[in-house]
Amino acid sequence: MKIAILTSGGDAPGMNVAIRAAVRYGIKKGHEFYGVQNGFYGLVNNDFIELDHKRMSGIISMGGTFLRTARFPEFSQEENIDKALQNLESRGIEGLIVIGGDGSYRGALHLSRRGFKVITIPGTIDNDIYGTDHTLGFHTALDTVVDAMDKLRDTSVSHQRCSIIEVMGRTCGDLALYAALSGGAEFLVTPENPISKESIIERLKQYKRDDRTHAIIVVTENMINVHEFAKEITEKSKFTSVATVLGYIQRGGSPSAQDRILGTRMGAFAIDLFEQGIDNVAIGIENDRLIYLPIDIVVSNKRRLNPLYKLVAEVS
Ligand code: ATP
Repeated sequence: MKIAILTSGGDAPGMNVAIRAAVRYGIKKGHEFYGVQNGFYGLVNNDFIELDHKRMSGIISMGGTFLRTARFPEFSQEENIDKALQNLESRGIEGLIVIGGDGSYRGALHLSRRGFKVITIPGTIDNDIYGTDHTLGFHTALDTVVDAMDKLRDTSVSHQRCSIIEVMGRTCGDLALYAALSGGAEFLVTPENPISKESIIERLKQYKRDDRTHAIIVVTENMINVHEFAKEITEKSKFTSVATVLGYIQRGGSPSAQDRILGTRMGAFAIDLFEQGIDNVAIGIENDRLIYLPIDIVVSNKRRLNPLYKLVAEVS
């Protein structure tokens, strides 16, 4: 079978690992591979490269995606979907692996609805995809955030400050949640746990009366203006507060061992599924077992509340 692979949406550490595993595992089973550069934009603009065993050399430790990625909202237009299908079919390609977030899954759905065989792999640091406990890149980004929190704690303790740390996640608080637990934060503000600024300030006043020396607040992006909140805390409680927006450093870096294992398992699993005649599905991992669900089920469902939220209040 001729199989193409593309990465789309935000880059995530582990995308290269999944590509490498699919290609190397697939070649051993007699398949041929193409990489599509720049996501759906490259699919429409015929930007294909051949992928062989040797081309996969050295990419296991590389963050980002060597196939590059792009935002290309025009992929929902019928004429672009037609072009993409023509480009795939003119090469005799029968299957496509799409690695990306839920937006990329919607792009993949357009192709599968037209009868093309597509399998998706969850690649995003946000961990915001239904039907998988974890997405590729999430654990690497988490390690980056926890490392930053440890460093910020050192300076917060020394200066007896309150430190606000804004992390990525879009509308999903998982990165903040896992970071708060791993980094020992006192407060967590996420879309699923939107505690009010006033209640945080009241508790910080109490912390001060109790002679607590520092505090860490982890906040998911787009929820509050963290710099203004730091000023408000400084004015209203006795805690001097500073905010740090971690930003794009969370996207980069060499994939963690956990993401390398996950990417390797998911990449090889995509080939197993094609071989079993299973397609138009999204791969996930649940309780350490690889699973798959129809792509339209995955894009139309919301993740349930993470049970780890129960622990946050108990250990802060
Ligand atoms: P991340 O969560 O990391 O941002 P994502 O895959 O959700 O990743 P998006 O920018 O939402 O990122 O989507 C990536 C690409 O998928 C888009 O630029 C576009 O090419 C395609 N895409 C997204 N939504 C659709 C849609 N409704 N129809 C067709 N294509 C889409």
